[in-house]
Amino acid sequence: ASGYTLLRDPHFNKGLAFTEKERDAHYLRGLLPPTTIPQETQVRKMIQHIRQYQVPLQRYMAMMDLQERNERLFYKLLIDHVEELLPIVYTPTVGEACQKYGDIFMRPQGLYISLKEKGRIQEVLRNWPEKNIQVIVVTDGERILGLGDLGCQGMGIPVGKLSLYTALGGVRPSACLPITIDVGTNNERLLNDELYIGLKQRRATGQEYSELMHEFMTAVKQTYGEKVLIQFEDFANHNAFDLLEKYRSTHLVFNDDIQGTASVVLAGLVAALKLVGGNLADHKFLFLGAGEAGTGIAELIALETSKQTNAPLDEVRKNIWLVDSKGLIVSSRKESLQHFKKPWAHEHEPVKNLLDAVNKIKPTVLIGTSGQGSAFTKEVVEAMASINEKPIILSLSNPTSQSECTAEEAYTWTQGRAIFASGSPFSPVEYKGKVFVPGQANNAYIFPGFGLGLIMSGTIRVHDDLLLAASEALAEQVSEENFEKGLIFPPFTNIRKISAHIAAKVAAKAYELGKIFLLFYLSFLNSITCFAYLKAFWKNDQGSACINNIVKRL
Ligand code: NAP
Ligand code: MN
Repeated sequence: ASGYTLLRDPHFNKGLAFTEKERDAHYLRGLLPPTTIPQETQVRKMIQHIRQYQVPLQRYMAMMDLQERNERLFYKLLIDHVEELLPIVYTPTVGEACQKYGDIFMRPQGLYISLKEKGRIQEVLRNWPEKNIQVIVVTDGERILGLGDLGCQGMGIPVGKLSLYTALGGVRPSACLPITIDVGTNNERLLNDELYIGLKQRRATGQEYSELMHEFMTAVKQTYGEKVLIQFEDFANHNAFDLLEKYRSTHLVFNDDIQGTASVVLAGLVAALKLVGGNLADHKFLFLGAGEAGTGIAELIALETSKQTNAPLDEVRKNIWLVDSKGLIVSSRKESLQHFKKPWAHEHEPVKNLLDAVNKIKPTVLIGTSGQGSAFTKEVVEAMASINEKPIILSLSNPTSQSECTAEEAYTWTQGRAIFASGSPFSPVEYKGKVFVPGQANNAYIFPGFGLGLIMSGTIRVHDDLLLAASEALAEQVSEENFEKGLIFPPFTNIRKISAHIAAKVAAKAYELGKIFLLFYLSFLNSITCFAYLKAFWKNDQGSACINNIVKRL
């Protein structure tokens, strides 16, 4: 390849960081100004450049521009300034970028698969320049963060998530493939926008939708093999649960909104128990919001509790209650409930609102996964504080505007007794001379390390025990020093170490599970062959001839 093309290939371009030797070896002489600037200096220059922009979206665009020019520098910058840049390439700024994707669209990123490509998806996959893909993050754009249906413009999410796979998890950029499935959008604003980049039609549903998804899932496995990881991201819950259920037994799939969130939050809860005391089984959980995040977290808490106590899953579920838009989920509502809510429909009289639910259920832990800003009112938080010495309150809804309560509210309304964490970041809060640092239950703690562990171990299915292993690994990373500040998540500064730790634990667990599966598989195989031999043997002496033949060949 010529030096000229090398400079224009973001995977290889290093700009002025090319050394004298490299300039000779790659025909770069004269194509660059004579000075050599080491990468550390480039990083310093670039972070200054990014900080010049006051508007977060401009910072986002500067980052994307860098990613398209000099990938190495992009990742080095992201790693060195992870706490500062995470909110730019990821939530909340990435949300705004998706909303305005049509306006800021410069060069296409990732792979678009729309209804137009039906019947030809494998062909589309072959157009992607990289052949050795390890991780795919795919969305259909129907529920982008808490921002709703952004259609094809959801592409910002898979792109952002995969940049974290590299920056936080160390997966090669060329092994990552962002994909957006475009089946239309129900967003009127986008349908009427002449700059909208996606199909201008209402969303395909039912058979048309599932056929396209099925063709996609099949084509991915055929093209990249059994070990490629497919992360589902920001699908609306009616499709998210069904896709996960349908493909978890045939593909290496993982839904970050359901499973990743669950693993992160469980880690936070396990850490919080060190501050509050007791085991999971001693606590009572109440959720506001019974969708992907709420029921996902609830299920993983139940699984872990059941493992710890040896009690049946149905039994431990009874300590976990959920409220949706129609009130407390109780058994009298069972008929009309979506299937993912049914395991949580316990015996109880109907309860209409959250405050009554708190007073009736008397939870020790209150978790917000409703997407409803300010839903944890003063009365609700005060009720938690009157029931508990140290109430655990998690306001997980994103972005910041949708948070069920702010950090300041949680600390002041409980006189500084709350153990609090949120989905979007809040600044430290001073209350009566003490500084409280709220933790962030960010999915970026888990998915890069979790994915890395899956890839490293070569596992081909995501078992729930792997999510529990990731959760445990994260909880272990919270130090005494963190606890003293009230933190139930470790700071992001060490995220690469944390991800590596998670990956190692997940891989070890996969290996352990793999051995069990292998034994099971072998004994299964053995019983079939033995049975076949025996049948043949008793039927006629052709059977024995057959066995003799096999023995001779061994
Ligand atoms: P989802 O599947 O759409 O679920 C939303 C749930 O909230 C539904 O059960 C809905 O009730 C309920 N709800 C809506 N309005 C309500 C109200 N006024 N009162 C009570 N319940 C109400 O969405 P999701 O994927 O679970 O996400 C929910 C929120 O969690 C989003 O804001 C998202 O950003 C956030 N989240 C945070 C993290 C994190 O912190 N790491 C991770 C994932 C998601 P119905 O079922 O009755 O409609
Ligand atoms: Mn998501």
